[in-house]
Amino acid sequence: MERLKQILSKINGKGYKAYKELQGKSFKFPDFELWFYHVQGDPFAAPSQLAVRVPQQWAGFPLESYQPQIRKIALADYLTRSFYRQVGKLPRQKQGSGKSGDFQIDRPGQEVLERTSVMLNEHWVELRFFAGMPAAGRRILGHEAEKMLFDELPKLVLNSLFYANLNSGDLFTHLKVVEDQEVLRRQLSENGLVAFVADGSILPRKSGVDQRPLAPEKAIAFEAPSDLALELKCPHGGNIRGMGIPEGVTLIVGGGYHGKSTLLRSLELSIYNHIPGDGRERVVANPNAFKIRAEDGRRVEKVKISPFISNLPLKKDTQKFSSDDASGSTSQAANIIEALETGSQVLLIDEDTSATNFMIRDARMQMLVAKEQEPITPFIDKVQQLYRDQDVSTVLVIGGAGDYFDLADTVLMMDKYRPRLVTEEARDIACQHPNYRKQEAGTNFGGLQERVPQPESINPYRKNKVKVKAQGVEGLQLGYENIDLHYLEQIMDPSQARAIGEMICYALRKKIIDGQQNLKEIMEQLEQVIDKNGLEAVSPSPQQPRGDFARPRPMEVAAAINRLRTLIVRVKT
Ligand code: ADP
Ligand code: MG
Repeated sequence: MERLKQILSKINGKGYKAYKELQGKSFKFPDFELWFYHVQGDPFAAPSQLAVRVPQQWAGFPLESYQPQIRKIALADYLTRSFYRQVGKLPRQKQGSGKSGDFQIDRPGQEVLERTSVMLNEHWVELRFFAGMPAAGRRILGHEAEKMLFDELPKLVLNSLFYANLNSGDLFTHLKVVEDQEVLRRQLSENGLVAFVADGSILPRKSGVDQRPLAPEKAIAFEAPSDLALELKCPHGGNIRGMGIPEGVTLIVGGGYHGKSTLLRSLELSIYNHIPGDGRERVVANPNAFKIRAEDGRRVEKVKISPFISNLPLKKDTQKFSSDDASGSTSQAANIIEALETGSQVLLIDEDTSATNFMIRDARMQMLVAKEQEPITPFIDKVQQLYRDQDVSTVLVIGGAGDYFDLADTVLMMDKYRPRLVTEEARDIACQHPNYRKQEAGTNFGGLQERVPQPESINPYRKNKVKVKAQGVEGLQLGYENIDLHYLEQIMDPSQARAIGEMICYALRKKIIDGQQNLKEIMEQLEQVIDKNGLEAVSPSPQQPRGDFARPRPMEVAAAINRLRTLIVRVKT
């Protein structure tokens, strides 16, 4: 501590770069050790990455709060939130230029994700935060820095990282709610389900830009229709009744504004665990469920979209379809094939964001436009094949196309936000009112191809430096390229986007992307590394640990690679 004080008074008034003297150093405080992992050379740039490490004997977290692994993830999430809240309580007075005096930490949303903001084990708890080291203009304010690190920081740490100072009831609720979701999710496949929505769940959100639940007085709580209801067991919540969505083809029908998309959206995000009070903390979906939508304009690189699309004008290849500007239908077809390629078992599709001509071609259109003139085999003719040949289930929001009745295994009607099972009615209607459509698909779905990314087509360098920067959850800058993540709607945290970028770089550095392995193999190897050594393992520099990564699914990493405009793949034959 004394040494740090000396340094701060020595560099007081000097140019901002003098803070760099702190980089890589650590200092002993009474309750913790303070680390300067990375020190910023400019007060207006991103703040410096610091960390505090509290020995576990003082922090005092009981073993059952961080074992097994899922509790560790939940506890790290809890502590990150707790530090974030404490920072919010600090008096906000401007202490200089740029980010001077700011404490920042990853801000978790409604999801509980594995992150690097808090790392813990039986020896210590480490919390990584960002600090704007104070300056006036570009002159170091040593006294302000002292105040920040010697007055404010110890209080923040004491109030958020010491078990004795936390509300242990609240903390354990957090852990148990997360653990229950894991257990619920694990029971899906043994029960032949793709998703489960517990009674009492609140699915709608506060607003289009606010992911918190709609206020209880405005929301209609979910209630499973008796013919789809079942009970699942979880360790803390006991027996939980809810609606099981079976494998196969499920339609969600109903009038406009009756809650169809809201239900689907909650399934999309229930690949993740949610915090207590979210309303979806007892909604779980198959962890590989992938949202499929139209994405016109996207880049597509040698994807075998031929199950859906063939006979394109000018004899364009659909076995190895490439485009710098895919159409609605070709992009949606590519999204499906790519999802299958990385192992998705459940496709989630909403009519609101689908290309109509991809989804359906009715009898009249079939009469007017002959099959030979129409490149698209609509999804309606493939959805059962997908299930039968590839074991891939689909949950589909359809308000307008009753032709799907013939193919659905389950039809669920949303009626004023209440679900009802209407499979039988839909079947009867389909029998009594044949649609005279001709089945257009061949006899089977067709096999998948292996695509091998070529390492030289992925360049993370900008000038001579690796450049990885997330633009919220919307985009990822990689070298000179911008990867559009906007339509990957299951990426929920900017720290996931950052981690995706770093995982791609890591895979290049370690020659996991080696020009031999296909995308699926690359993803599996990355998962192995992270499972074994933590998300940290993909950090660009082990001397400078980072607190701003959150774990993405491998599918989203692959999806980002697939959207890189320079990507070249070799198709294995
Ligand atoms: P649809 O897709 O059937 O047209 P949406 O799912 O978009 O309908 O829902 C329409 C509106 O109703 C949205 O503003 C949504 O927030 C709200 N909503 C959805 N589910 C509920 C519910 N259970 N209780 C109250 N409002 C809801
Ligand atoms: Mg809708």
